[in-house]
Amino acid sequence: MGFTDILGQGWAISLLRRTIETSRIPHALVFTGPKGVGRFLTATTVAKALNCLGDVQGDCCDRCLSCTKIAKGVHPDVHLLAPEGSSLKIDQVRGLNQEVTLRPYEGRRKVFILDQAETMTEQAQNALLKTLEEPPGRAVLVLIAPEVSALLPTLASRCSQIRFGPLPENVVAARLQEEGCDDTESHFLASLAGGSLGRAQELRTSPLQEIRGLVEETFALPTGKILPVLDLAERVVRQKETLSLFLEALLAWCRDLTVSKVTHREALLVYRNRGPALRRQSEGLALGQLLAMYHTVKQTIDGLGRYANPRLSLEVMFLKLRDLQAA
Ligand SMILES: [Zn+2]
Repeated sequence: MGFTDILGQGWAISLLRRTIETSRIPHALVFTGPKGVGRFLTATTVAKALNCLGDVQGDCCDRCLSCTKIAKGVHPDVHLLAPEGSSLKIDQVRGLNQEVTLRPYEGRRKVFILDQAETMTEQAQNALLKTLEEPPGRAVLVLIAPEVSALLPTLASRCSQIRFGPLPENVVAARLQEEGCDDTESHFLASLAGGSLGRAQELRTSPLQEIRGLVEETFALPTGKILPVLDLAERVVRQKETLSLFLEALLAWCRDLTVSKVTHREALLVYRNRGPALRRQSEGLALGQLLAMYHTVKQTIDGLGRYANPRLSLEVMFLKLRDLQAA
């Protein structure tokens, strides 16, 4: 993979290519942005481009011995630091500080990629600061973090920030289709993944059919009875790993209800193959009711983000949705 294969990050990529072409790449970079949008892939490609043996300007050939070694993670001048346990530790940074002073063994530049740099302990960040205060000539450090504010200001201020944005949904969907996903499913996954290809690929392995079934059950709860509500909440809570995915899928359904109330354009739906069902459900409800349903789910998601009790929150949400629907 060269820079041209990286999807949807035109601005970041052209900036990096220019600095590599003109040999003005900063000693320390921080790639910010959400997970799964290409930050790590780009960091590896920077390492390849800086050391490629092929005749390529501002990119890599991805075929030479150097590129192959980097792809396999065995190039002696390209180092990856990832959290050990839950954090990047001071000993890992001490190792980096030592290695960084040595000349490259076989490449032109030494490259250090610090994945999830936001997990660095304060001591680790302070230790890294020493290297960044007097950066050795031939080393490049690439920190990967969600945002610069996740790092100590003293550290962040010494890194040039390159921003990676969420990917457009059609870009994510197109890539999923290349990987064998059908049209409807790829759009569904791309919408739920909110611009992260990595997340969309992860979601492909989730029990989506089952989750969609639970979403349908939510709107089929009989009025006046409490047991079915408690039972549904119980079943959803039991599947801890898919709880947040269920809520996102439910939110997407509420969003689709609103969309199909105001337009019949199926291409705008997350649940593209459920147009008729969505229309049927939304026809009987006022726009105000639909918006209130959307907010009910959104509030539950926000509440769980602040450690609200999942079972209680779900029970309340299901009851509210049922009442809003019946109102
Ligand atoms: Zn190469």
